[in-house]
Amino acid sequence: MNADPLNDDLRTLYQDIILDHGKHPRNFRVVEHHTCKAQGNNPMCGDRVNVTARLADGKIADVAFEGKGCAISIASASMMTDALKDQTPDAARMLAHAVRDICTGKDVQLADPALALHMEKLAALSGVRQFPVRVKCATLPWHALVSCLEDKAQATTEK
Ligand code: ZN
Repeated sequence: MNADPLNDDLRTLYQDIILDHGKHPRNFRVVEHHTCKAQGNNPMCGDRVNVTARLADGKIADVAFEGKGCAISIASASMMTDALKDQTPDAARMLAHAVRDICTGKDVQLADPALALHMEKLAALSGVRQFPVRVKCATLPWHALVSCLEDKAQATTEK
């Protein structure tokens, strides 16, 4: 991993993933019988996401989102809901931290191979590190998720 992780091929691939999720978001709905919910708000860009989840047997049995925002915030939320199903809240928080780290230019090593596999897909979000104003768009759904797991109603990127 000495090469620039954002070489041209990779950048194109990342853009394709973001565009695909931005146009065709997965899990764009409200979770039925959700056990927690939180709203995320990024006033810098006007992104708003509502995250709902149902926790059962110590795992995230279902997680979904709805909202309005730029392609990056929607794509990030879509990829997040894909990655988090059947994860424990602890694993979800670990991924949330890891996403924040890759979006701000830090390297991330996850010991758990299952989580590391998810990180490979989520790495598409790391393209925002070149656009500081976009970092909050990418991390917003994850802020909302962490709030949801703590069952705080509001999350904001203004901290
Ligand atoms: Zn945005």
